[in-house]
Amino acid sequence: MAVATKSPTACLIGWPAAHSRSPLIHHYWLRTLGIEGGYSIEAVPPEGFAEFVLHLSTRGFVGANVTIPHKERALALSSPDARARGVGAANTLWYVNGELRSTNTDVEGFINNLDASSPGWDAAGEAVVLGAGGAARAVVFGLIERGIKHVHLVNRTVDRARALAGQFGEAVHPTAWASVGALLPRAGLLVNTTSLGMHGQPPLEIDVGLLPAAAVVADLVYVPLRTPLLTAAGARGLKTADGLGMLLHQAVRGFELWFGQRPQATPELRALVEADLTKV
Ligand code: NAP
Repeated sequence: MAVATKSPTACLIGWPAAHSRSPLIHHYWLRTLGIEGGYSIEAVPPEGFAEFVLHLSTRGFVGANVTIPHKERALALSSPDARARGVGAANTLWYVNGELRSTNTDVEGFINNLDASSPGWDAAGEAVVLGAGGAARAVVFGLIERGIKHVHLVNRTVDRARALAGQFGEAVHPTAWASVGALLPRAGLLVNTTSLGMHGQPPLEIDVGLLPAAAVVADLVYVPLRTPLLTAAGARGLKTADGLGMLLHQAVRGFELWFGQRPQATPELRALVEADLTKV
């Protein structure tokens, strides 16, 4: 007699959780890989998060993505790997022999996207990272893990850059915004992790003309897709890596952990998400 088994289902837990592109990405992979499974959005307020996560499997989930404002709590409620610990936040949960594990896939999303779009980027001796928020932590962790020797961390609130640098050691140099111009001529990599340049936010005013000709420019902002920073870098002939690429690459690992197959960030998937982003 056949035993009915529920197909594996993962979810995104956030508050609010609407507007995420994660369901579009995971449903595309489930469909194209022929996997029977699901991915839902679960809007869970902060006061309900611990109870929800501690009973994730009894709710029928094989794992989850976690987004704002739950990423730090997710870390505390699970067994984190080195990346989640290093970043201080977890965005992906899954089970190993009944134990809830966590990681932070923004690190590999950022690094794998650079590898895919600008191979050789890691020849950069010095990187300039703009911003010192949650996304910057994943970027800095990834750059150090990859062996970048000097990371200049530039932030409007320089104390926040100092605090972050203090957790990462000597390779990270906290820097005031006024010093960016002096740093750019030596930077092999420039990364924007601030929200500047995003729809509805002030523009990012930076002169990419100061960068060396071999520099690579990455922007985490993906609405709009081609930010003014990436447009200016492209016009100068510099290699670029965009925020949508990072978003797609960060989703790969979760899918693999929950559904057992490693998916690809294909041009077709990119086009699908791009079309959705233009609805904004
Ligand atoms: P966050 O923790 O709130 O940090 C925001 C950063 O932007 C801080 O460094 C903040 O500086 C800076 N900032 C904000 N407004 C500014 C202004 N007017 N002038 C100068 N600096 C300003 O946010 P986050 O989670 O790191 O996210 C940052 C961006 O990355 C967002 O656009 C997000 O959508 C994007 N992101 C993309 C991906 C992806 O997969 N592509 C993943 C994660 C995040 P202060 O410290 O001085 O306030």
